[in-house]
This record gives sequence, C-alpha cells and structure tokens, in this order.
Amino acid sequence: MQVELPDIPIEKEVKLNPKDTALIIVDMQNDFVRKEGKLRVPKAEETIPNIRKLIEKARNSSSLIIYTQDWHMRDDPEFKIWGEHALAGTWGAEIVDELKPKEGDFVVRKYRYDAFFESPLDYILRVKKISNLVLTGTIANVCVLHTAGSAALRWYNVVLALDGISALTDFDYFSTLRQVSFLYKGKLAYSNSIFFI
Ligand code: ZN
Repeated sequence: MQVELPDIPIEKEVKLNPKDTALIIVDMQNDFVRKEGKLRVPKAEETIPNIRKLIEKARNSSSLIIYTQDWHMRDDPEFKIWGEHALAGTWGAEIVDELKPKEGDFVVRKYRYDAFFESPLDYILRVKKISNLVLTGTIANVCVLHTAGSAALRWYNVVLALDGISALTDFDYFSTLRQVSFLYKGKLAYSNSIFFI
C-alpha cells in the first residue's frame, strides 16, 4: 500500500522573542540514541549537531532551555509496549554527553510520552512566562508529538525543528509533521532557520 503525503508547509524563517521562548530537548538519552541503547532510534545521532546549534542560539540569547528525561520505574507498564528502557538511575536514562544540561537549564523527568503529564513542566513554563516552544528530540511520533500536542492544547505556540527530531520510520516522521502542522497549527522549520531574537 502506498499513501500520498499531503502538502506540509515549511517556514523559511522563524524569529522568536528569546524572553518568552523555551527550547525543549525531548529524551535525547543514551537508550534512545546510542548503539548500545535499549530503544535506539538510528537517526537520533545525526540530529545531535542540529540540536547543539539550537542550544547555542538559545543560550546566547538567554532563552530557557528545558530537557525532558524519560524516567521509568522497574516493571513499568510501558515496558510491555517498548521493552525496558530509560530505567531510573541507569546509564541508559542519562542524557547524551554532547547535549549535557548546564547550570540554569531545567531537566523534567517524565513517566509517559507527554512531558506535561504529571510533571512540573507547565508550572515552569507559566512561571517563566513562556508562550513559544521550540521542540527537538526523539522519538518524533511518540514523546515529541505527545508533548507538542499537550503544549498546543494549552495554547503554547509550537515550533518543530525538522532536522532536530528523529523517528524509527519515515512514516512516523512525516505523520508527526502533518499532525503538528495541521492539527496543532505548529510551525515547521529547519534548525538554521530558527532564530531567538
Ligand atoms: Zn518511555
């Protein structure tokens, strides 16, 4: 079976006010990124330089930087779907070295796909008066998409970095773009077209 890809608009440039914008890096943890990881997304590794560039831009303009960290308890019910991954306190749950958080960044641990679910993320964003979220990370159609959807339902503006997200299949990748663009009215742009100014 073949499916036709609908038109998905891509922004030439997205300029964001650094004061009310947060960069969110979803689940760039060893288990998802590294060869030895338990739930590896082969394309995640190649997004690292693009995410690094966005982190640099966000840092240079003093934008808020938030990491999410998948953080599962032993025998977590989610393991029935995906197998064991991101077990609390293990190497697999650590954020990859190249993207290590720095002082002043937030790390939000999460039990489920949606980084808002049972977490302080919304509280942090509201206290910091954030209205725009630039989303990067993995897995595109799982934790990135659920977080994008949850953000959009709360009326945050979502910007998705096309070369900063990764999925297990092309179908998963493109369906994420379609959902974010159409359903959540998010903007899609490549990392070099996203500016914090
Ligand atoms: Zn998980």
